[in-house]
Amino acid sequence: MDLSKHAFFEGKIVPFADAKISIATHGFLYGTSVFSGMRAYWNEEKKRLFMFRPFEHFQRLLNSARMMAMDIPYDEEGLIQLSLDVLRMDDWKGDVYLRPTIYKADMGIGVRLHDLKDEFCMFVTALDSYVKNNSNAHLTFSSWRRIDDNSIPARGKISGAYANSALIKTDANRAGFDEAIVLDHNGHVSEGSAMNIFMVRDGALVTPPATDNILEGITRRSIIELARNELGIEVLERSIDRTEVFIADEIFMTGTAAQIVAATKVDYRPVGRGTMGPITTKLRALFDDVVRAKLPKYHQWNVEV
Ligand code: PMP
Repeated sequence: MDLSKHAFFEGKIVPFADAKISIATHGFLYGTSVFSGMRAYWNEEKKRLFMFRPFEHFQRLLNSARMMAMDIPYDEEGLIQLSLDVLRMDDWKGDVYLRPTIYKADMGIGVRLHDLKDEFCMFVTALDSYVKNNSNAHLTFSSWRRIDDNSIPARGKISGAYANSALIKTDANRAGFDEAIVLDHNGHVSEGSAMNIFMVRDGALVTPPATDNILEGITRRSIIELARNELGIEVLERSIDRTEVFIADEIFMTGTAAQIVAATKVDYRPVGRGTMGPITTKLRALFDDVVRAKLPKYHQWNVEV
């Protein structure tokens, strides 16, 4: 992995090798940390990096922190400034991924959230495509269930909850699939291991609502807007049944790391004609232009580094 030379750690930018926590740190022992995964994209024409929707990513991070009774002395704007400072320390000339984390920093034993110190840290890494087979992925229904809002909130990006994602991902990959679809406690489709899901049915784009135990994805939100405004198609946020997936015309998954993954098979059944569909194809091209700051209409989503 091509990691940054610098990181933000305990209030300042330090050489990456110096950004270390103890084995007795609460966040490590109990998964009591929250994080964000955001990207900065390289625009080859302008020879510049552009962060994609950092305000929304930091807003979600701070909301996750609130759920976990955490408090840090930065707001969204302050965190964007820190990110720009970290990115500018290293000479990136390609797409990168930023990983800011807020964690319970005290050392020792005792599982709880209160009366503990919170710290913020961040590093950067080069990151290409996250799902290798992103134009004709084969999905399976996971036998695991998505964590529930009343156990660990799925709408928070909580490190400990990613044990659920890891179980889902490994079992899907070991069984020969690229990614999995996860059902929630009610048996409705929620999302993938670390990405949201969309299907096309009868010309409309359908995605599970925020109340079906999904992470409220920034890519999801962007795709909903682009589909409505640029493709003029109807977008419905409603619960999805398992068998609807088998009769969908198109399926794709969205996430910052994954970007837009076209799924062409689910549990050995072809999706639509078994190749990437027209709506997925258009949205992938549009999304790539938008994140690289090539569409002036969406420049409010791009923050120049
Ligand atoms: N669901 C989960 C569980 C995720 O980890 C992610 C990745 N952050 C997503 C969905 C997609 O969210 P976003 O588009 O904001 O990256």
